[in-house]
Formats: sequence, C-alpha cells, structure tokens
Amino acid sequence: MLRYLLNFVFPPRCAGCGERLPIEADERICSICLGKIERLNEPLCAVCGIPIAAASEWCERCAASPPHFSRARAVTAYRDGAGHNSSVVGSIIRRHKYGLDQSLGRALAECLGAELPLDCAGYDLVIPVPLHRSRLRWRGFNQAAMLGRAVARRIERPIDATNLARVRATPPQTARTRRGRRENMRNAFAVSRPARVANRSVLLVDDVMTTGATADECARVLLHAGARRVDVLTLARVL
Ligand SMILES: [Zn+2]
Ligand SMILES: [Zn+2]
Repeated sequence: MLRYLLNFVFPPRCAGCGERLPIEADERICSICLGKIERLNEPLCAVCGIPIAAASEWCERCAASPPHFSRARAVTAYRDGAGHNSSVVGSIIRRHKYGLDQSLGRALAECLGAELPLDCAGYDLVIPVPLHRSRLRWRGFNQAAMLGRAVARRIERPIDATNLARVRATPPQTARTRRGRRENMRNAFAVSRPARVANRSVLLVDDVMTTGATADECARVLLHAGARRVDVLTLARVL
C-alpha cells in the first residue's frame, strides 16, 4: 500500500530508458530493457570469464599470469558511452556511480536476471568489493554492497561487508595500463578478522570488472587471510 502511494506521488521510471513503469510496479527496470541485456555466453575463459576462441580454455592473460581468484563470471558485457554502443547496464552503472539515487541499486540487482552466471551452491560467504571511507562518505553508498546483498539473498548465504576493507584510497583506474592498475591496487585492501574467512569459500561481488586487478588483489588478500577459495561475480565485464 505504501509502495503504491509512493508510486502514485513519484511515478516510477525505468532506470534504463526512463520510460514510465506501471503504477503498481515493484521493478525498477522495464521488460524491454531487461530483454536487451545480452548475457555473456560460452566459450569463455575458464578462469576470468572473458569470451575466447572455442579452441582454447584459458585466455592469454590468465595463461600468462593466473589471477588469485579461481573463477570470475559476469552477467553481461559493459559498454561505455552514449548512443547505440551503450548498453542498458552501462548506462545504469554510469548514473549509479555519479548519482545519489539508491533505488538504482535495486535496478542493478534486477539486471542480474533470473539466473546467475555462476553455480553458487558451494559458497560459504558473500563479500562485496569495498569502497574507501572517503568515497563512501562522498557517495553515500556502495553499489557493490547493494549487489552483494541481492546475491547473498538469492543464494541464501551470509554477507560480510565489513571484514574486507579498502584501507588505502586508490587513484581512479581510468587510463592506466594493466601493470599500472595492479601496482595501483597494492596494499589497498585488508582483512580485519581473518578468522571469519578462514577455510571459507568466498564469493566476491562487484558491479564492473575491468582488467580484474581489483578482484585479483581482493582475492589475494582474502586467500592470505586463510580463505579456501575466492570466486568473483560481477554484473558487467569490460571487454
Ligand atoms: Zn526501460
Ligand atoms: Zn582469462
């Protein structure tokens, strides 16, 4: 009833295209936009989940220097920019990153779709990639944590959004080389209570994976703290 009243006063609009949604809608994304989200399909690199030629099993990057996580999968490709090249998820994430609208977090969770791109049966714990305090204060919320909560609910596992922390603010990753990104991430994360991840199988959640340097560093720190295995689930993957 409250939702209905709120929807009546503030007619809900699709977070992807801005079209009006039905007044009784619980969703934040219209069915047309949801239908436009192209899932990443096999053949994918067995490790990082990037599309590859059918003949190989690992992508060149993973073969040359395997990441610390065991497996990463994304729902869809991330395309930046406006116009025909932009994707539904790309436009939502852009607005979400620089906007202050919490309901976009729900929209992102809806973008995960009916089926997650990973078989999530074996995980003990969901951990979102953290933001540094300064950015969290500025932005007010962490979109990875919002996604993490949605994933945790979905797979019926606990979420721990405080144990892994970003202890060093890192400069923005844009326009850096892959090696630069790795170095940029060094010592950026820390686990405060290793006992809570010891011998656990962890599902790390983030909104976008670019080179994988962030996820790799989080996984390194979690494994160092005693985690048994770290896999990564992101909504989108920059190709
Ligand atoms: Zn729409
Ligand atoms: Zn790979």
